[in-house]
Amino acid sequence: MERSRAPGASVRGNGDSMPARGGIRKLALLHIRLGVASERLQLIRDIGITAEEYVVEHFHTRISPPDSCPHCGRQKALWALCYYPRNVTQPRSGSIRLMIRRFRCWRCKKTVSILPAFAQPYRFVQNHIIGKFADGERDPEVMRWIVLLRQYWARFVMWLPELRRAVVDGNVRGPPEQDAVAWWQLLVSPHGDFTAATMASVSRFRITFFGRYRCHEPRPSGV
Ligand SMILES: [Zn+2]
Repeated sequence: MERSRAPGASVRGNGDSMPARGGIRKLALLHIRLGVASERLQLIRDIGITAEEYVVEHFHTRISPPDSCPHCGRQKALWALCYYPRNVTQPRSGSIRLMIRRFRCWRCKKTVSILPAFAQPYRFVQNHIIGKFADGERDPEVMRWIVLLRQYWARFVMWLPELRRAVVDGNVRGPPEQDAVAWWQLLVSPHGDFTAATMASVSRFRITFFGRYRCHEPRPSGV
């Protein structure tokens, strides 16, 4: 698959050119808070299947609850509450609707849902496509969503100063501030791919490549 830079894009510092990335690496689980209220929390779980397989296999019915409540820490306190729909891109065209499993804690009454890791929080395009765009690939799958992907990149560029402050050790000498391409590579490459990098940044710093949401506020002490 040929990699190409966007027309007029330079290798460094351009809003549409993106760096190469490393191999695929999976992570097991991370915790992030999503939603408008802290009573809702979302875990991202790498379930090792595609969105299409998730739907065909009715995988949402097989999502198990976390062992302990991420709000209050109580063991085996989460019980199935409901499903809610979530759309993501599908390979050839259009979108695919996922059903996301939500659980409620019988002790603290707060809820937690499990988002498959192929989905990016608050973004429609799947992570692997965002990653390909970031690699500079312009295959049909990327081109299908190129308008949205460019918007994502613009958001990343705007958000980068905050992201950098959050996740990069102040003693690390990184690329020039305006070099968003190099920063993307710096942030992604240690984790192997964009999915893993997202999981790491959210689990460690409660921030995505595109924003920090109210749900990313710190957990109550002791949880
Ligand atoms: Zn609880």
